[in-house]
Amino acid sequence: MNRFTYTRPENVADAVRSIADSDTAKFIAGGTNLVDLMKSQVSRPTHLIDITRLPLHQIEETAQGGLRIGSLVSNSEVAYHKVVERRYPLLAHAILSGASAQLRNAATMGGNLLQRTRCYYFYDVGTPCNKREPGSGCSAIQGYNRNHAILGASDQCIATHPSDMCVALAALGATVQVIGKNGARSIPFSDFHRLPGETPHLDTNLLRDELITAVELPSKGFAEHFTYLKLRDRASYAFALVSIAAALELDGNTIKDARIALGGVAHKPWRDPEAESVLIGQTVSDEPFRSAAQILLRNAHGYRHNAFKIDLTGRAVVRALQQAANQQPASQHGDHAGQVAEQQS
Ligand code: SF4
Repeated sequence: MNRFTYTRPENVADAVRSIADSDTAKFIAGGTNLVDLMKSQVSRPTHLIDITRLPLHQIEETAQGGLRIGSLVSNSEVAYHKVVERRYPLLAHAILSGASAQLRNAATMGGNLLQRTRCYYFYDVGTPCNKREPGSGCSAIQGYNRNHAILGASDQCIATHPSDMCVALAALGATVQVIGKNGARSIPFSDFHRLPGETPHLDTNLLRDELITAVELPSKGFAEHFTYLKLRDRASYAFALVSIAAALELDGNTIKDARIALGGVAHKPWRDPEAESVLIGQTVSDEPFRSAAQILLRNAHGYRHNAFKIDLTGRAVVRALQQAANQQPASQHGDHAGQVAEQQS
């Protein structure tokens, strides 16, 4: 067992000071990923800074007409918040398609953004893994890689980002609010997570001494035409093989605006502005949907066990856009109303 010390600051300034003081300290909130990482010796912090008492639990409307969600709001609180359900249902659906009710009650907004890949080799300290141990090699490239990336991978790492919630946040164009010893800044969601490149040990562009304080949603929520389509090996409590967050703004049958973000296929939620712009001005039909899918997948590359994902993703993009256009937001196995009933029973 690795020994660590523990503190629980009461304010953000103290939390930021604490993390800046130690290279091997970590913040902990829900702990739904970090505790697993510590148990399996993948993460060995010498000091845990419990941030659960910081005043980052609010959901409030912004002056720009958007929504600011504190980084310590639980995933369940976000998914069942009345404003989120009404104005950002894509986000609610994506959250409820992930994990279990118990995990969603504990997991926080900020923690969800920072959860680490579920690559099997990353969690197995007996195998080489550049993400866990830079320079040691990648066991997945020649190994079992069914869940791995088909877009944006490198010869150092082919891991995928596991979050469902982040796929919806990418599609909605959220921003991440952070604070560090040098002050506060705002990071566009598309710049928050990184591709592996030569530095697969870095998942995000968050600096080591920065704390996520909130996620802000813009005013446009695509509440009329959206879908979160999650394809996985079993119907519940499984990470996505492929997921699609699709959102359309329609004027009659004409597409005025479009968003498509992919999960389960890259080291970060994957968006391609060209695939979205090809839809603008088009009449709703399969032909432009297929064009968007082709653009999204033009540089896709499969490995021994995951090449099937390329075709699967293409068909899932078309299906998700069809569902969004037809106001059928249901995921692979059920609808939001059904999950609400399940949660409340
Ligand atoms: Fe490690 Fe990435 Fe390779 Fe998985 S894919 S073994 S996380 S380097």
